Amino acid sequence: MKLWRQLRWRIIAAQIVVVIVGVIVLAWVADAIAVSTVTEALEAALLILPGDAARLPAGRVSQALLASYRQAITQALLIAALAATAVGIATSLLLTREILRPLRQIGHSSRRIAAGHYDERVTVPGSDELAAVAHNFNLMADTLAQVEQQRITLIGNVAHELRTPLAGLEGYLEGLIDGIVPDDPATFSSMQREVRRLHRLVNDLQTLSRVEAGQVSLQLSSFDLLPLVQHVLTQLHPQAGVQRLALRLEEPSASMQVYADPDRTAQVLLNLVGNAIRYTPAGGSITLRLTSVNRMACLTVTDTGIGIPAEALPYIFERFYRVDRSRARSSGGSGIGLTIARHLAWAMGGDITAGSPGAGQGSSFCLTLPLATGDSSP
Ligand code: ADP
Repeated sequence: MKLWRQLRWRIIAAQIVVVIVGVIVLAWVADAIAVSTVTEALEAALLILPGDAARLPAGRVSQALLASYRQAITQALLIAALAATAVGIATSLLLTREILRPLRQIGHSSRRIAAGHYDERVTVPGSDELAAVAHNFNLMADTLAQVEQQRITLIGNVAHELRTPLAGLEGYLEGLIDGIVPDDPATFSSMQREVRRLHRLVNDLQTLSRVEAGQVSLQLSSFDLLPLVQHVLTQLHPQAGVQRLALRLEEPSASMQVYADPDRTAQVLLNLVGNAIRYTPAGGSITLRLTSVNRMACLTVTDTGIGIPAEALPYIFERFYRVDRSRARSSGGSGIGLTIARHLAWAMGGDITAGSPGAGQGSSFCLTLPLATGDSSP
């Protein structure tokens, strides 16, 4: 590495330049101001000198005195410059060592993080600027550690989710080979159910990876939310009927123009109402309501189902999170439907929020979407 590219030598060079400039300015000022002042003072003094000195021409005496005065000044400046340079180099060396220590530590830590040691952190130094760098470095290390942890958890979850249908299929196949399980349509449809579950999981994972990477293609346009909601409800009515659930839209006359992707909005809505149907026991009700707040349309899906405990609410949008693992798995839920739905809502400029008074007391999900410009209907 060239010396000039090193911060240490740049600081030392800067100190030396400051000393040289200081000495030049000092010499110039001494010559321009001090010499003329001293000359005037000398000539005034010679006029009142007694004896031989008074008989010599005043000019010659003052020239000789001035020459030795100049020589003294030059010598003093030279010694001062050398001393200042020496002190400057010494202080620069100390200074650069202090400045470079945390930077060197950050360099060392970043190499360790690059090698996979995500628990590496740097100590925050006293100086404000370097403390900010060290603090931000530690924040970055925290984020990397979290991402790594999420990656490990994700792989574990995917393996776990794949294991269940695969174990089911393996059980049926072993039973068929050993002749314990009959090779009748009931067995094959059970096997088909496991294969479908695998298929759905793989599709969900693919969609999840695309929405999380921001790679979903959206066809944004202005459209009326009301017919779309009614269409989704018509699709889900038979399913709700089987479970004896009342599925209805409150105030069906309130049309609302939103700016979003109609297909993706329908997908999100299918997920929210599908969940409400899945988690509401027979005899319950599911109500949809359309409102608008702060230039956003809000579509609320409220059910009288099993509800969500307060401690689970912050996690329900996380991948693979299920409040009741055994129950959700038996009903075929992969625990990533809400993650996908929220990412889709975000991609369209909206959001999904969830609320519940507690377990057994129903839940409410609100999908917000931007209103089409010019629509401010309540
Ligand atoms: P799943 O496919 O398991 O339903 P989701 O991501 O759609 O996955 O939902 C995550 C979890 O949130 C569910 O497993 C369930 O525990 C909870 N949940 C979602 N919607 C409701 C609801 N309407 N009522 C109660 N719990 C719900």
